[in-house]
Amino acid sequence: MKVAMLGSGSRGNSTLVATDNTRILVDAGFSGRQLALRMRALGVEPESIDAVVLTHEHSDHVHGAGIFARRYGTPVYLTAATREACRDRFRGEEDLRAYEAAQPFAVGDLRVHPFLTVHDAADPVAVTVEGKECGTRVGVATDLGRPTTAIRHSLAGCDFLILESNHDETLLRTGPYPPSVQARIASSHGHLSNHAAAEFARELVHPRLAGILLAHLSVECNRPELAMEVMGKTLANTGWSGWLQAAAQDEPTPLLEIARLREEMGPAQLTLL
Ligand SMILES: [Zn+2]
Ligand SMILES: [Zn+2]
Repeated sequence: MKVAMLGSGSRGNSTLVATDNTRILVDAGFSGRQLALRMRALGVEPESIDAVVLTHEHSDHVHGAGIFARRYGTPVYLTAATREACRDRFRGEEDLRAYEAAQPFAVGDLRVHPFLTVHDAADPVAVTVEGKECGTRVGVATDLGRPTTAIRHSLAGCDFLILESNHDETLLRTGPYPPSVQARIASSHGHLSNHAAAEFARELVHPRLAGILLAHLSVECNRPELAMEVMGKTLANTGWSGWLQAAAQDEPTPLLEIARLREEMGPAQLTLL
């Protein structure tokens, strides 16, 4: 199973999850052109995408969903409330398919498990995506106000985690946002700070977790090196030493093969936790 983020941050999010037979996008928060450009840069043709799964209606997650669906005939999966909240993105000619949180559904040989999050949107979810054949599970959790019991339960035991590490608390306080926006971001319905993400990741790491990709970093109120440092320090005494990187807003990550990341962890890692 392979995974890549085409980009991540408040100006757009999209994650590619692929097996040999099936490819899906979780969110499509870039223009149709950018989505196509970025996946082609990874050697993936937009025509080959089997589904777009939308997590919530915020523009940085749905921006190109309509045009991508019309251009390539790709089905779009979304909840009824999310569909209502972003109906201006669609013209009626797209293949829109409803799903509900806590009701897993299949796309080819992938199984998508959506679960409710706490975030200031109509019906926000995050997902895990599981390969039916290989059993590999990827968690995609980018807009989390706070980790609830249900979120903890859903993300436990993933083989690869994409986890929001949105802001540095100090940069948020001293940054350019007015107090109302600061309050929204930091609230329990906003976004996880670097420290909150790191504490959450400490709960989630386990010997078979091959990698963590930090996502949705704020351009204004975060730096990749800060997010990585906080995460690295917090995980240091867990014994976990898998792959760790931060996704960028303007360029895709490599297409990461999860089995290969796990091989690179080596046998020492597996005995540590
Ligand atoms: Zn959002
Ligand atoms: Zn977002």
